[in-house]
Amino acid sequence: MKPRVLFLYTGGTLGMVRRDGPLAPSHVAEDILPYVRGLEAEVDVEAELLCNLDSSDIGPDHWERMAEAVARRVPEFSGVVVLHGTDTMAWSASALSFMLRGLDRPVVFTGAQRPIAFVRTDARNNLIHAALCATMDIPEVGIYFGRRLYRGNRATKISIQSYEAFESPSHRPLVEMGVVIRHTSPVLPPPASGLRVTPGFERNVVVLQVVPGSGPLLLDAAVAAGARGVVIRGFGAGNVPQKGWPDGIVRAAAAGVAVVLHSQCLRGAVDLGAYEGGRAALEAGAIGTGAMTVEAATVKLMWLLGQGLTGQALRAAFAVDLAGEGSAETGELTGERE
Ligand code: ASP
Repeated sequence: MKPRVLFLYTGGTLGMVRRDGPLAPSHVAEDILPYVRGLEAEVDVEAELLCNLDSSDIGPDHWERMAEAVARRVPEFSGVVVLHGTDTMAWSASALSFMLRGLDRPVVFTGAQRPIAFVRTDARNNLIHAALCATMDIPEVGIYFGRRLYRGNRATKISIQSYEAFESPSHRPLVEMGVVIRHTSPVLPPPASGLRVTPGFERNVVVLQVVPGSGPLLLDAAVAAGARGVVIRGFGAGNVPQKGWPDGIVRAAAAGVAVVLHSQCLRGAVDLGAYEGGRAALEAGAIGTGAMTVEAATVKLMWLLGQGLTGQALRAAFAVDLAGEGSAETGELTGERE
């Protein structure tokens, strides 16, 4: 029997058309199927339309709808492909990785840099390979793009124009598609319990970037404006200027605002013990993000706050690796086949 895959359609460039100007959503789930003719030899595809949006208009409400749709439909399928715009794909994939506790099969996000109706497009390649990944024994949320399947909460969009639009900077891809299909990194272990959706995201979370020589003006402004969580992108290993910033973090913590310290670097792991600027922030109450992407760290903060966690409980929960978002890089080749 052929594996069955659900295409869950949310929008993005893949299905867009050009109407005298910018690209806008147009095609919907069923319209996509004729463009991947031949795929039915390998898998049976069913499509469901969830929404049809540019992904810059997708947020926590849509993440929760996506998770609910996956949980409702996934028992009938080998896996799910979520068709999604590239702009916020890493955010949505991170959100689903935290919400879908007990996921035992693949949920693969994919999209395209050019619409599927264009002759020269990356959409067909991405969609066909994403569908094949959705039949594999991969119990986690991934992003398929270009030639690779990435762990969803480790991936980030790194290019506006390239067909290789994503990377997982501090984690080996899970699968590489070439003449042979290579499983290049271990996947998450199978879950111990059944699938359940845990929704709930705090919306009042902001990300701000430190400028050399600056003070914590934006941090104070975010606290005054009612932010419940702040992600600071410091320098290198997670360092902030020692003048002003640690005091700003103390003020934020005293106001009950969770402060997470990330880096402006793309690769590597934040280590708040490495330099004085990081240590001062740690002592002031900041939580380091380790090897997470900024998307995963921010969505994890939104989700943990949404579960009602604050203070020490939030700090402890943030340190727990929920879905491989912060695990150390592993580099083994775990399999290779035609
Ligand atoms: N703006 C589009 C979106 O994210 C870009 C894309 O799909 O590649 O929906």
